[in-house]
Amino acid sequence: MMNQIEEVAQWIFEAKKVVVFGGAGLSTESGIPDFRSPGGVWDKYNPEDFYYQNFIANERSREKYWEMATEMYGPMKKAQPNLAHLAIAELEKLGKLDCVITQNIDGLHHKAGNSEERIIELHGTAMYVTCLDCKKRYDRDEIQEWIKKGTKVPYCDDCGGPLKPATISFGQAMPERETEEAYYRSSTCDLFIVIGSSLVVQPAASMPLIAKRSGAKLVIINRDPTPYDDLADLVIHGQAGPTMSGILEIIKRRLGIAGNKNIR
Ligand code: NAD
Ligand code: ZN
Repeated sequence: MMNQIEEVAQWIFEAKKVVVFGGAGLSTESGIPDFRSPGGVWDKYNPEDFYYQNFIANERSREKYWEMATEMYGPMKKAQPNLAHLAIAELEKLGKLDCVITQNIDGLHHKAGNSEERIIELHGTAMYVTCLDCKKRYDRDEIQEWIKKGTKVPYCDDCGGPLKPATISFGQAMPERETEEAYYRSSTCDLFIVIGSSLVVQPAASMPLIAKRSGAKLVIINRDPTPYDDLADLVIHGQAGPTMSGILEIIKRRLGIAGNKNIR
């Protein structure tokens, strides 16, 4: 009997278009807490402080937002890709990845070596800051320097508009190009692999459904159950890193690439 990891490896091997769909659980092994697990972000902060409406409403909530964002950015910037990110990057090198659609804002797929055009960041990125008025883009580190020097709420040096990390907050419009691209890729793939997402945040959570309805096989790799487990062709309730590196090992063996544990 084939075990689950061998089965997923076999499906990746046979598939023409593999889409990986990642959530916060893909990065917990890199030391970045997810939202909903114990000890996660929601244990520490009030979700309302992240609402876009509050950010634009007044100076006081912008200050609060930047305080939290600054605290969360430190560990995120230092974080390194884990076995799951590295396995996904390796899949691209092997020609076995159409794209990775991520809800994460931590830039770890870039760090792992996936190419820019194969990473779709549905919820933006914490690695940049944008002016809400003129859309000017700043490097995040530059703005963190201003904050280190005493700025409480940064404003655009061109137009005076409020600056916000280039992430999509609750209540903020989804990025048009990325969302369209993600829907398109989900509906045209033949294998859709969810890794580390509770699949409860919309519209991101509708992607697996679209893939499945369009005829793709659906695989879910997540520590806890998700609302789509019943719909999936295969569910692995396990850790993202060890699971993905196990899958990669089998694929490499199949491709005749020596069983080298060091995947970089
Ligand atoms: P979530 O917090 O709702 O769910 C994470 C899921 O991952 C949980 O179901 C949990 O069981 C699972 N999980 C945790 N660690 C795992 C591991 N090592 N292996 C396998 N599964 C694991 O996260 P979500 O579904 O991505 O949605 C929350 C939103 O939070 C997203 O929109 C995302 O933008 C944002 N977020 C991003 C980051 C980041 O960039 N790293 C961190 C926290 C939150
Ligand atoms: Zn501006």
